[in-house]
Amino acid sequence: MRIARFSIDGNVAFGAVEGEGTGDSAGLVLDIIKGIPFADFELSGTKVPLSKVRLLPPVLPNKVVAFGRNYAEHAAELGHEVPDAPFAFFKPSTSVVGPGDPIAYPSFSSELHHEAELAVVIGRMCREVPRERVKDVILGYTCANDVTARDVQRREKQWARAKGFDSSCPLGPWVETDLDPSDLAIQCTVNGEQRQLGRTSQMIHSIEDLIVNITEAMTLLPGDVILTGTPAGVGPLDVGDEVAVTIQGIGTLTNKVIKRD
Ligand code: MG
Repeated sequence: MRIARFSIDGNVAFGAVEGEGTGDSAGLVLDIIKGIPFADFELSGTKVPLSKVRLLPPVLPNKVVAFGRNYAEHAAELGHEVPDAPFAFFKPSTSVVGPGDPIAYPSFSSELHHEAELAVVIGRMCREVPRERVKDVILGYTCANDVTARDVQRREKQWARAKGFDSSCPLGPWVETDLDPSDLAIQCTVNGEQRQLGRTSQMIHSIEDLIVNITEAMTLLPGDVILTGTPAGVGPLDVGDEVAVTIQGIGTLTNKVIKRD
């Protein structure tokens, strides 16, 4: 099931996406969910065309835990060794925006980069998750862009500003709950031109590894998001660019870069 979060007439709701499509609204319909997708829920049978709503970030995470250097060719392109163990950093909840929302170019950077990533959405509160239980804590998967001020990342020891500024974490267009994430094509285009193309099977540390690793340290809450790293091909974004992340079996997340007010 594809679960979207949206606003219509000032109300926010979740809905199951029906019909064929990758992220634009043509032909898609939402069946409004009674309740929230983090517990047992029912479809209301009340349907609205996707074209009549505004899609929101599919979840509002308490935290986004992002893993770095999880694809060997990407680590190499930035001149880094592949780490022996997974390593994580945070993107704050205020960095999250939804499909179609603008990415505001930060005033303190002149080198903004896209990073297309598979995002794992957590479905239930969990800690110290054993490997064999990892699938039980996952609600589903969505597309993410770990937008990075690369110059600031190089300059500053901690990445809070470089990877945590407002609008640096587009998520969407929806959460796909029925998906084997082990070998999906992941692509990033800028203005229609391909920049990144990889497969999730190229991850150094698997989704199981990442969730075992982070839940050794902290509790994950329903709606929390894990970013799993980006394949090779990261590159610059300029004001006016349209950046799209497409993941096989999920859909396309598109955002435009604007000048920050
Ligand atoms: Mg990243």
